[in-house]
Amino acid sequence: MNTPRRPKLLIIYTGGTIGMIENPATRTLQPFDFTHLIDNVPKVRKLNYEIDNISFNPPIDSSDMSPEHWVEIAMAIERNYRAYDGFVVLHGTDTMAYTASALSFMLENLSKPVIITGSQLPIGEVRTDGEENLITALQIAASVTPTGAPTVQEVAILFENYLWRGNRSTKMSADNFNAFKSNNYPALAKIGLGIHFNNDALYRLIEHRPLRTHYNMDSAVMFIDLFPGLTEQTLRHQLNTPGIKGIVLKTYGAGNAPTEAWFTDAIRDAVDRGVVIINVTQCVNGGVHKRYQAGDALAASGAVSGHDITAEAAITKMMYLFGLGLAPEDVRDHFGHSICGEITV
Ligand code: ASP
Repeated sequence: MNTPRRPKLLIIYTGGTIGMIENPATRTLQPFDFTHLIDNVPKVRKLNYEIDNISFNPPIDSSDMSPEHWVEIAMAIERNYRAYDGFVVLHGTDTMAYTASALSFMLENLSKPVIITGSQLPIGEVRTDGEENLITALQIAASVTPTGAPTVQEVAILFENYLWRGNRSTKMSADNFNAFKSNNYPALAKIGLGIHFNNDALYRLIEHRPLRTHYNMDSAVMFIDLFPGLTEQTLRHQLNTPGIKGIVLKTYGAGNAPTEAWFTDAIRDAVDRGVVIINVTQCVNGGVHKRYQAGDALAASGAVSGHDITAEAAITKMMYLFGLGLAPEDVRDHFGHSICGEITV
């Protein structure tokens, strides 16, 4: 009788608290060599998986994450795609939601699990959440359906009790173990005594196609955050940032902004110059709706609704679309529909 093949997983260690130790001299946390990570989690060996790992050299605090690093992660996945059943990316929590969103766009036609996790406490600490997160992420990456297909076929964030869709996630807490949430989309799995997948929420390609990786992420994008007291001078200064192609405008409530002419004229001028402006709400929950005149005025100035997209997914989606070389009208159009589950349509 054939013994079933052991799941084969690749860990990509980028850095973050999960792999940090305290520098005794400065008493600050610093990244350390990945080999210590496995030494600190001997339980991983009990999983009976075949696990390989590759590591950023040097590992980084995710505050230093950049599109070049996303390319490094995406390349590692592409190169090893056929050889592994699933991928676990160990990453700092600070920019994890950006990386998850970016990878979801960069890895077109993904049909294997890419599970991103990290921790709030270094893995070497007694009360660490890193050990549990790493082990659960590996189990999720190894999970298969009764037909033998991967249970998760998308980029997801595993943190403490939940598995979230990557491009729907936001870091919600700097302190809590349950640090992430996807405010506008249900959890892909709830982790308690067992791992309970929410099968209806899991992403599935309509048609299976080979993985296609996109490496060109255009950084000519920025956020503008509204606040009462924003002046015309500051707003125009930001809108006129040299070379900028796209702006994610963080607005009030259901997508509302000042209705005064100085504001709408400034937005209209930028749109007329070909700058794509995407309207996303500052609220952690809900999205942009046609409900108030204050939202209509902004739409009339040429800003495009981002619906219920997260700010992280909006900015990375724009980087991806401009990276494809699309014209402003085409970039705008793509915000009306979902590419890989990032908005509710
Ligand atoms: N500053 C760290 C990072 O994002 C925090 C963490 O890992 O949670 O890399």
